[in-house]
Amino acid sequence: MKCRLCLQEKDLIGTSHIIPNFMYKGLLDKNKKIVETNLFNLKEAKYRPTGIYDKSILCKQCDTKIIGALESYAAKILFDKKDLVSTVEEDEHIINLIFKGIEYKKFKLFLISILWRASISKQRMFDEVKLGAKYEEVARKMIYEDNPGKRDEFSTCIFGLKSTENLVTQTIVAPRRTKVDGNTSYMFYINGLFYWFNISAYNMQDVFKRITIDESNEMTIGILKGKVGEDFLDSFLGRKLRLSKKF
Ligand SMILES: [Zn+2]
Repeated sequence: MKCRLCLQEKDLIGTSHIIPNFMYKGLLDKNKKIVETNLFNLKEAKYRPTGIYDKSILCKQCDTKIIGALESYAAKILFDKKDLVSTVEEDEHIINLIFKGIEYKKFKLFLISILWRASISKQRMFDEVKLGAKYEEVARKMIYEDNPGKRDEFSTCIFGLKSTENLVTQTIVAPRRTKVDGNTSYMFYINGLFYWFNISAYNMQDVFKRITIDESNEMTIGILKGKVGEDFLDSFLGRKLRLSKKF
């Protein structure tokens, strides 16, 4: 069968993760199973043994050498930040953490690989992520040819929330497509962080120019404060959801 990344006829591997396992850190229960909360019915939680994957989409070489290398770099950045230097800019709504020394190429391609994998996935969870033939191919080429493109190509904002006490944050929910003034973007929410991908330059929202990773290896992550963060989460979930106590 044809590998979706290198497009060559090859033996394809059984499980290719769409969202890499390391991003579930903190979501695993004592049996190392992922707790996937149903946000519309908190009593109903699904337990997934190994995350969300598709069968027969990638060959071994592409899954381990190309995607695997991007994932190991990103895991270091997201969960082992000790070598990173950050400065902080703050106003009443947002704290911007500006990290230096993040390899633009690797981290950007890692982010694009999540978007691309979600787009080609047949899992129902990713139904709203459909880049279409044109942008799917642009993303595939960028990953396969190790070319992260310019800052405004698949520009990605990463947001966190400052106060999460009464919010459901440790979960993974289906990504959403949003359309504002003819501009399509996709938002993922994974384990406390929003990953928001812009697709085309047409009417791109300003936030993608300010809070993103750029070619100078600098990445800004926005931490939304108080009500701003709650409203952002609410608009993503499409409803207000508060916990009476932490779980
Ligand atoms: Zn391949």
